[in-house]
Amino acid sequence: MSQSKANALSTWVEVPKNSDFTIYNLPFGIFKSKKLSPRIGIAIGDKIVDLCILDQEGFFANMFLPEGIFLKDSLNDLIGLGKVQTRKIRERVQDLLLADNEKLRDHQSRGKAMVNRKEAEMLMPVKIGDYTDFYSSIEHATNVGKMFRDPENALLPNWKHMPVGYHGRASSIIPSGVPFNRPKGQFKDPDMEAPVFGPSKRLDFELELAFITGKSTKLGDSVSTAEAEDYIFGFVLFNDWSARDIQNWEYVPLGPFLGKNFASSISPWVVTLEALEPFRTQGPTQEPAVLPYLKSEKPANFDINLEVYIQPEGKTASKVCASNFKYMYWNIAQQLAHHTSNGCNLNVGDMMASGTISGPTEDSFGSMLELSWKGTKPVKLETGEERRFIEDGDTVIMKGFAEKDGIRVGFGEVSSQVLPAKT
Ligand code: CA
Repeated sequence: MSQSKANALSTWVEVPKNSDFTIYNLPFGIFKSKKLSPRIGIAIGDKIVDLCILDQEGFFANMFLPEGIFLKDSLNDLIGLGKVQTRKIRERVQDLLLADNEKLRDHQSRGKAMVNRKEAEMLMPVKIGDYTDFYSSIEHATNVGKMFRDPENALLPNWKHMPVGYHGRASSIIPSGVPFNRPKGQFKDPDMEAPVFGPSKRLDFELELAFITGKSTKLGDSVSTAEAEDYIFGFVLFNDWSARDIQNWEYVPLGPFLGKNFASSISPWVVTLEALEPFRTQGPTQEPAVLPYLKSEKPANFDINLEVYIQPEGKTASKVCASNFKYMYWNIAQQLAHHTSNGCNLNVGDMMASGTISGPTEDSFGSMLELSWKGTKPVKLETGEERRFIEDGDTVIMKGFAEKDGIRVGFGEVSSQVLPAKT
């Protein structure tokens, strides 16, 4: 007998079975339609609740929200109000959607307030200030270390002492559904005498989740692991596209650059930390013990199923990976504490990605680099085709959802097609 079943919520909105957008989820996003300018909505089932309409009709009365706070083309101002406010807004919407609450259900504005998701175009949810990418999966770091360095000493000496990361580029982060051209760059395969410049031959995805910060800090200040979650608004799926050949030739000594910054795709709905609460779980044991500033008392891993599909153009999609966010060695509180430990300041709308989320089994590896083991073991698709890396015309789709005791909270998907390199 679970506590959640005793507290089961039901809504007057029709929510299809296995929908990611249940009454328990209520993620925030930015949408527009033929008739509507960009604005903030909350997803439920196949609908979007237009928060501008709810606001106009007085459903947020007594909450002292700034005028026009929902008529925005990013969530930044809203999430900058702080967690106390955004939590209240989400709870108010949840309350209005409950089966026995007639206030919106029987209100004359209901038709206008509930927009069909099919008729909406989803936009970038956040104006991302700075983007950081961690490298927090021990399985991924170990696999990469085995392939490119020493199988006996796959992890570098620092890896178990800090959440390793690097600063990425925010300008090329794109929302789901936006295609991009295969990157060109300089690379030198092992059999080449000199480097060449041309379209990448080893284009890859990286299965990640990213969190978005909702609170800023002053330069010089640090955030402790205990405070970290106050700074985290929510999560999106993150496909950190990578050109392995470019990356491999450029990354020593300063790390990732053009092999990484040509595109990263995100899912459009930001799932709040509150919605993920039922799926909180203990992470892996950290041995050796971490330094005191990285000690994290509260479990800060989340049991979220993650899947990757490859869909060749005009054909069916094949699942190539099933992983889980719970495998992360370094948790979000440790990542944020480490990031600010030197006094580096945070802004509202910063994005911090997990790094590739690989699991312990071969079918749970979160990149083609690992799934095809550097291209030596082709991955079979249901169409009969094989893939070592991602080809022109392929669409890569990532899905994420958590499910427990009849509660489902999901991210929808991030999907993007690879177009040929520009000539
Ligand atoms: Ca990455």
